[in-house]
Amino acid sequence: MNPWQNAQQILKQVGEKANIDPKLIDILLTHDRKIEVELPLTLDNGETKTFKAYRMQHNNWRGPYKGGLRYHSQVSEDEVKALSMWMTIKNAVIDVPFGGGKGGISVDPKTLSKPELERLTRTFTRELAEFIGPDKDVPAPDVNTTGEIMGWIADEYGDNAVVTGKTLENGGSQGRTEATGYGGVYALLGVLESMKLEPVGMTAAIQGFGNVGTYAAELMIKSGIKVIALSDSRNTIYSANGFADIMALVEAKARTGSLANAVKDLGIECEIKPADDIFKVKADILAPAALEMVIASNNAGSIDAKIILELANGPLTPEADRIFADRNVVVIPDVLANSGGVAVSYYEWYQNRHNEKWTKEQALSKLEGQMKSSVADVLAISVESKLTLREAAYVLAVQRLAEAKPIKYIDCECKDCKNSQNCSC
Ligand code: NAP
Repeated sequence: MNPWQNAQQILKQVGEKANIDPKLIDILLTHDRKIEVELPLTLDNGETKTFKAYRMQHNNWRGPYKGGLRYHSQVSEDEVKALSMWMTIKNAVIDVPFGGGKGGISVDPKTLSKPELERLTRTFTRELAEFIGPDKDVPAPDVNTTGEIMGWIADEYGDNAVVTGKTLENGGSQGRTEATGYGGVYALLGVLESMKLEPVGMTAAIQGFGNVGTYAAELMIKSGIKVIALSDSRNTIYSANGFADIMALVEAKARTGSLANAVKDLGIECEIKPADDIFKVKADILAPAALEMVIASNNAGSIDAKIILELANGPLTPEADRIFADRNVVVIPDVLANSGGVAVSYYEWYQNRHNEKWTKEQALSKLEGQMKSSVADVLAISVESKLTLREAAYVLAVQRLAEAKPIKYIDCECKDCKNSQNCSC
C-alpha cells in the first residue's frame, strides 16, 4: 500500500464508520489540480540532471491551498497526493482559513551543493509561479526544506507572503521553528489531562531528530517527561536515565553528522542501536516524527506504548491503527498532533499581510490555546460518538469543510430542477 492508498482507505473507513455524506467523501478523494514538472539543473561540474517535482492542490473551500514542500528521494505523485489531502483535513481541524496542498522534489538534497539547491529551488519556483500566491497557494517547509529555502522562493516569486516558515530576517514568525514539535506536545498534554494522567515521570521514545522531533523532545522534557530514546535515519540512541540537553545534541549532530556521533562527541553514555530499534523501546509515549507508514502490521503488534503521538504525517497504516485501537492504545492522529506548524504558518501569513510582528510569547501562547481548543473539540466528538481520536478529528474537519462547501456542490432542493450546477431557481 502506498501513502495515497493509505490516505484513501483512512478517509473511506472514517466516512463509513461516522456516517459522513458519501458525496462529500467522494469529493475529498479527488484533487483540484495536479502540477508535475521536470526540473533541469546544471550541476557545479557543468553536467545537467533532471528531477521530477510536484505540487498537488487538493481543496480550497476554506482558503488558499496550504502545505509544505518536501525534498526527498522518495517524493512521488502518490505521496504528495496523500499529504495534500491530509493538509485539507488538518487545516480544518486546527481551524485556520486554509485549504490543502503539498509538493516536493524527488531529490536527495544531501547530494547537492548549496548553490545547486538554490538553483533547483528557483527553477521550481518559476514553474510554480502562476499557480501559487498569498491568496492562491502558500507553500511551507517540510522534510529537508528550511527557512532559507523558503526565502529563495519568496525572493524568486517577489512577495514574502507567498510562503511561510521563512527565517525571522525574511519575515518569518517567532515560534514557527518550535511550532510543530511544541504543538504536538500541547496536544499530548491536553489528551493526558483528559485521561487524568500526569506527564511527570512518563517516558517517551521519538523517531526522527529533525525540526519536529527535536522541539517535541525539548518540550516533553520541560513538561517532566523522560525522553529515553531518540533516532535519526542511521541510529537509535537509548538511555534509561533519559536525555537532558536536546539543544546540545542538535548542535553536536549538526557538527558531527549523526546522533551516534553527537553522543560520542558529547561523552553521553547511552546505547547506540540500529535506527528501527526505536520501535522496540518500551516507553509510555512513542512519537514517530520522521516519515510516513513506518508503523504497519509487521511491527505494530510488538510496540509497547500507551500513547502514539503522530508527529509525522501518516506514520501508521490503517492496519496498524486497527491493531492499536484493539489494544486500547491511544493514537493522537497526525491531523491534530502536527497541526501546530500550520497554525503558526497562519500567524506568519497574517503578520506579513497586516504588517505586524508578534513576540515569541504571543505566538506560542496563541498556539497553545489553539491546540488545546482543537483537542477539546476532537475529544468531545470522540466521547459523544464513541469514535477514536482520528475518526473524531476527521468528523470535525468534514463538518467544517461541509460548512464552507461552494454553491456548485450544493444539491438543489427544488422539485423541478435536476441539475444543481445550472439551477437558477
Ligand atoms: P526534518 O527536519 O527533515 O527531519 C526528519 C528527520 O527524520 C531527520 O532526523 C531524519 O534523519 C529522520 N529520518 C529520515 N528517514 C528516517 C528513517 N528511515 N528512520 C528514522 N529517521 C529518519 O523533517 P521535519 O520537518 O522534522 O518533519 C518530520 C515529519 O513531520 C514529516 O513527516 C513531516 O511531514 C512532518 N511535519 C513537519 C512539519 C514541520 O513544520 N516541519 C509540520 C507538520 C508535519 P537524519 O537527521 O539522519 O536525516
